[in-house]
Amino acid sequence: MSSIDGETRLTGLIGWPVAHSLSPAMHNAAFERCGLNWRYVPLPARAERLAEALRGLAALGFCGANVTVPHKVAVMPHLDAIDPAALGIGAVNTIVVDGETGRLTGHNTDAAGFLSDLEAHGLALTPGAHVLILGAGGAARAVAYAVLGEGATVSILNRTHDRAERLVAALHEALPGAAVQAVRAADLMRGFPATALIVNATSAGMWPDVNHTPWPYGVPYPEGAALYDTVYRPAHTRLMREAETNGLRVVGGLGMLVRQGAAAFSLWTGIDAPVDVMEAACQRALDGAMWE
Ligand code: NAP
Repeated sequence: MSSIDGETRLTGLIGWPVAHSLSPAMHNAAFERCGLNWRYVPLPARAERLAEALRGLAALGFCGANVTVPHKVAVMPHLDAIDPAALGIGAVNTIVVDGETGRLTGHNTDAAGFLSDLEAHGLALTPGAHVLILGAGGAARAVAYAVLGEGATVSILNRTHDRAERLVAALHEALPGAAVQAVRAADLMRGFPATALIVNATSAGMWPDVNHTPWPYGVPYPEGAALYDTVYRPAHTRLMREAETNGLRVVGGLGMLVRQGAAAFSLWTGIDAPVDVMEAACQRALDGAMWE
């Protein structure tokens, strides 16, 4: 890796906490592979200092940043412009800083990263395909926005049903006429529509709560569906194991993380990201982590 000098350009991850993120390993490996004298650093920022942190990005000459939990929505009022997809999703995970003016533009690469990984696994959706999304938080919103844009019909099942209803209302506002509804486990017990894809966008099953599953007790898995679990710690969740036992094809969420990172890398640098290098760096970081 090139040494840090007066020409080194900076990016990083704004969140709280950020210490265990895979993104520094992933982006620094990509910069090195592409021969770029750039670095990506953790930028821990508490909610009450978020506005200052964002002003600091431009003041310190950063090229851009990623944004993670809990700031993906809170950053929006502090930006100078927001890309239409990020506006529709209602969350920003990537900021580009204009080197001349210092203007901050917000983007969301989670939706594109998810679609790109689906395609990489041969799971691209056909228009009208039914997708069941588990969860109604930020990840569910990005996934729903992505698959609705592909012409899918979407059902949202969430532990807290009111939150699923609110997400559906927000999606109808962002995408008028979108085929999206909130469902309850009891609806699925009565009969499952033909389903191409189930997406776990909840945090259930994520380390350290590896024995949790968001799948509603007693509901049969639909035949012929694939399961995409956005959780990537661990690589094989309880939900993935049980779905596989029931004949579903399963994919874990590491590829989505890598591909949202690849899209951010291209926004900052203007060049194609070395996706394989980024994935290998994440895998090494996961393999070496203390949590397993
Ligand atoms: P969030 O906004 O906090 O939403 C969490 C969601 O999980 C809510 O719908 C919540 O339901 C549900 N939930 C939590 N514990 C549950 C349980 N035990 N059983 C059933 N449902 C449960 O979080 P988020 O930002 O959407 O992120 C959710 C997960 O997505 C993350 O943990 C991460 O694993 C994954 N993710 C992956 C990527 C990637 O690149 N692969 C990117 C973003 C997120 P309630 O509304 O009932 O609380």
